[in-house]
Order: sequence, then structure tokens, then C-alpha cells
Amino acid sequence: MSKRLIVAIDGPAGSGKSTSAKLVAQKLGYLYIDTGAMYRTVTYLAINNNVLKNKHAIINLAMNSNIVLKFIDGVTHVSVDGNDISEHIRLPEVNLNVSDISTIEEVRKILVDKQRKLAEENCGVVMEGRDIGTVVFPDANVKIFLIASIDERARRRAKEYDEKGVTITLEEVKANLQQRDKIDSTRDVSPLTKAPDAIEVDTSNVSIQQQVDLILGHVKQAAKKEGIELGNL
Ligand code: C5P
Repeated sequence: MSKRLIVAIDGPAGSGKSTSAKLVAQKLGYLYIDTGAMYRTVTYLAINNNVLKNKHAIINLAMNSNIVLKFIDGVTHVSVDGNDISEHIRLPEVNLNVSDISTIEEVRKILVDKQRKLAEENCGVVMEGRDIGTVVFPDANVKIFLIASIDERARRRAKEYDEKGVTITLEEVKANLQQRDKIDSTRDVSPLTKAPDAIEVDTSNVSIQQQVDLILGHVKQAAKKEGIELGNL
């Protein structure tokens, strides 16, 4: 298989990771991997099995469930043991618990192994999350760290809920983002943090097209350095 790049995009919820990562992957013809969907899946399974407080049972669920991500028409679809649970993993109840589940070291190890395997099998990926540039792929060719103001992030998420018909106030969305930011960036294992060699981009006042162009500019530089052809880019 010809040599390809690994593009890591990290940042807090609502910073624009998913939107730009999907478009960058599409442009490159690379695989897009939403690692948050994996942590959300384990959280959903824990809720569904009524084991939110049972660390051992949660680790077992992560280990023994066949989690498959498929990217279809701009949306990440998740199935577990053949059942499509995509509709469930973005519900407010999952949002409320996902950061606690993500502090469990064993769960992270299981999911990070899956993430590395996916990249190995596919060669050429755009992976988004919280620890991609720091832990999953510390040698990624391109590392981007997106940030945005809390008000802008809350506004973006509230709009997404509205479009899905989920009833939730802007204040509730903002409080959940702040709570997740706090847990994600202060946990002992793989906290949300910018890798020293990552490029930080504040997306608060930047259009999606500008974000994508900026990331693609860094991808082109990395490709040149590695002597990798990027097709029609
Ligand atoms: O990206 P998203 O907001 O869907 O991620 C949901 C949660 O999953 C995050 O708030 C974080 O707790 C966890 N997560 C993580 N590491 C990743 C991706 C997500 O801990 N690489």
C-alpha cells in the first residue's frame, strides 16, 4: 500500500473538529474516524445495561462488544454486534455520562487499540478526538488543535440539537460542555491537551471553508515533506 498521512484533529466539543475533519478526509479521499463516537458507544452500552457505576462491567462491555463505525453520507453510523445505535449515542443522557466513562484507563486502552488498528488497516486517515496527537498517534504527520469560545461552542451544539428536534436550553448545553471540558482536561489518563507540536486554530470567527483550507495547507506541507502524492489537491 502506498504511503499516506495521518492527520490528527483534537479539541473540545463544539470546536469544529467533526465538521472540518469530515471535509478534510473527503477532500483527501482518506478514512474519517470519529473517536468520540466510540466513547459514546461504551457510555450508551453502560446506560442500557444499567452498569454506569460498575467499572468492571463497563470494561467488559468495551472489551466484548464489536463496535463498528461506518461513515455514510456525512454521518458516522455506529453498530454494536450488528445493531445500529447511531441515533442513541448523541442523546443528552450520553453527553452527561461520557466524560466519566472516558476517564477509565482500561476503556481507553481498548478503544485506542481499535483506533490504531483502524488506521493501520486503512492507511491514510483523518482522526478526531481529544488525545489523538498526544497519545493515539504522537507521530501523526499533521496535528491540529481546534479551540473556540464557550458561547460559540454552545450555540453550535444547541443548533444541532434543534435540528434533531431535541428539546434542551442553551444554558443546559453550555453547562454540559463546561462540565465535559473540566473532566476531559483534568483527568489523569490522556487528558485533553494540545500536543506541543500541534497547530492551534481558534475557530470562533472562522468559516468552515477557512478552517478546511487552513488544515489542507498543513496537510500539503506534510505531504511534500514525506514525498507523498495527494492526487488532485
Ligand atoms: O467528540 P465528542 O464530543 O463526541 O466526544 C465525547 C466525549 O468522549 C468527550 O467529551 C470525551 O470525554 C470523550 N473522548 C475522549 N477521547 C477521545 C474522544 C472523545 O475522551 N479521543
